[in-house]
Amino acid sequence: MSTVPPDVVVVGGGVAGLSAATFTARHGLETLVVDAGESILRRNAHVENFPGFPAGVNARQLLDLLGEQAETAGCERAEDTVVRVEKINDESGFTVGTEAGDSYRTEYVVAATKNEVGYLDGVDDVGIIDRGKAFVDVDERGRTGVEGLYAAGRLAEKPHQAIVCAGHGAEVGVTILEDDDRPFYHDWVAPDGYFTDRGRDLPPGCEEIDEEERAHRESESLTVMRDRFAEPHPDEQETHSSLEE
Ligand SMILES: Cc1cc2nc3c(=O)[nH]c(=O)nc-3n(C[C@H](O)[C@H](O)[C@H](O)COP(=O)(O)OP(=O)(O)OC[C@H]3O[C@@H](n4cnc5c(N)ncnc54)[C@H](O)[C@@H]3O)c2cc1C
Repeated sequence: MSTVPPDVVVVGGGVAGLSAATFTARHGLETLVVDAGESILRRNAHVENFPGFPAGVNARQLLDLLGEQAETAGCERAEDTVVRVEKINDESGFTVGTEAGDSYRTEYVVAATKNEVGYLDGVDDVGIIDRGKAFVDVDERGRTGVEGLYAAGRLAEKPHQAIVCAGHGAEVGVTILEDDDRPFYHDWVAPDGYFTDRGRDLPPGCEEIDEEERAHRESESLTVMRDRFAEPHPDEQETHSSLEE
């Protein structure tokens, strides 16, 4: 575990949380994902509607890949359960406490825990919506109204679909980059000269790469994907105790 204090703590490492973390980590915010390891997607039998997988994909494999991608982006991950988030009095930021006894000071918290909200009890003014299951009230960019606290994915009342929750997580990540006032245009990798040959500065967040580097990255991705998809995923499909999900 890194000794650098996190700028962002993402609570929940399912599809929404991991996507949010990938965007904040790629753009220089120290990002920690604390995850209890029970994404509801683990119960799926075969994912057939996540873009990029024409024959579908094993849900446990998809979660592993999202986690690996967040780590490649520079994010830290802890397998733990967050039990408490508290706003720091008269300052910006929060303390985040876990079941294992760890405590983190952070500027931003992303709640991405599907319908778990108990750890937010100590934060005043979070709008909890109770419809049998709990959701968090947010604006169109995932802001809760408590400065620095965001909610992403199903918890933010997004449709119960992995790609929608992943997309919302990404949007929340970008929103934090914008709210943090850091220079950011888009997270794009463009061909060499795409901007600069037209007399433009390289916009912040963007990268230009030449053909040699492009070929190198493609080769790396082929190696990784061949390895990850060489065998069936070892984890069993998980069952559930409730028929409501
Ligand atoms: C049987 C089944 C099949 C499905 N099939 C599909 C499908 O084919 N296609 C599709 O698009 N969608 C499918 N879904 C829906 C999809 O799984 C969800 O919409 C999606 O996973 C929601 O993403 P999320 O990140 O919001 O929540 P989750 O993926 O559930 O992630 C929430 C994470 O938060 C963690 N967490 C909770 N509380 C805490 C805490 N206090 N501290 C730390 N971590 C915590 C959990 O352990 C979990 O890892 C299916 C769902 C089910 C039940």
